[in-house]
Amino acid sequence: MTKQPYRKHIFFYHKQDETINEQLERLKDVAVNNDFTVVDEAKKANIIVSIGGDGAFLQTVRKTGFRQDCLYVGIALQHEIELYCDFNLENFSELLYAVQHEEEIEVRRFPLIDVSINGVASSKCLNEISVRSPIVKTIVMDIYIDDLHFETFRGDGLVVATPTGSTGYNKSTMGAIIDPKLPCFQVTELASLNNNKYRTLGSSFILSSEKKLHLEIEQGGNDFPVISFDNEAFPIRNVKEVTVGLSNQVVKTVKLKNNTYWDRVKRMFL
Ligand code: NAP
Repeated sequence: MTKQPYRKHIFFYHKQDETINEQLERLKDVAVNNDFTVVDEAKKANIIVSIGGDGAFLQTVRKTGFRQDCLYVGIALQHEIELYCDFNLENFSELLYAVQHEEEIEVRRFPLIDVSINGVASSKCLNEISVRSPIVKTIVMDIYIDDLHFETFRGDGLVVATPTGSTGYNKSTMGAIIDPKLPCFQVTELASLNNNKYRTLGSSFILSSEKKLHLEIEQGGNDFPVISFDNEAFPIRNVKEVTVGLSNQVVKTVKLKNNTYWDRVKRMFL
């Protein structure tokens, strides 16, 4: 009896762009010729392919609901180096081959964070959540780690990043780059005010999967922060509290051999 391919229903997620549209027909033909079925809705797929860069990959995962029963694949345009994209338009058949040969497939599992706002589960994030002042005034937040009042923050805002998000916004705020095999999340400050009244740690800090970060936003003035989940911003009124913890869900992607996370970090930044 012939072994059935591991996964067969493939969905392409991409923005409407002339160059991508041209390439897409070719990718679909390659998929069909390799015994895959191209489906027209993400919910019918067990492989979801994002075409574009890291921003496109973030959108793909978000818009398709952080599916746990799917493999996500990032295809970069040309030979750009991207954090979430192991494949490009030239080596697409390698992806299909890998998926058809279960024994050869390597799957990465990227940690996610869960965010609740005012006690209501609001979103998962693959890169980060940021909480920022929308106006020229600073934002004030009491920061708790579990039940411990850790510090009172006053400044532009905070970024709470996953390990794979650590090379994004987090890196620009001098956060460390974290190996995604470590189940943790990182908090970095955006321009904190430090004086006799307000004192913050000043450096980023990393919390384990057992910890919860709790932000209580001072009311009366700046309680309308801009909250960004990855690359989407949500102006939410009357934000009193934000809670962040590591999710027990992950994003699964197909990994090319000899292309570790640190290979990509090196290619991207060094
Ligand atoms: P964007 O503002 O158009 O681009 C931000 C850049 O970050 C793009 O070059 C994007 O790559 C890259 N990027 C995204 N996720 C990354 C990751 N995990 N590691 C390394 N680079 C990454 O927005 P976008 O493309 O939609 O990406 C949204 C992300 O931008 C946010 O989640 C946040 O991490 C980042 N961001 C950074 C800053 C900052 O550094 N000051 C400010 C706001 C947001 P592609 O070109 O391949 O899409």
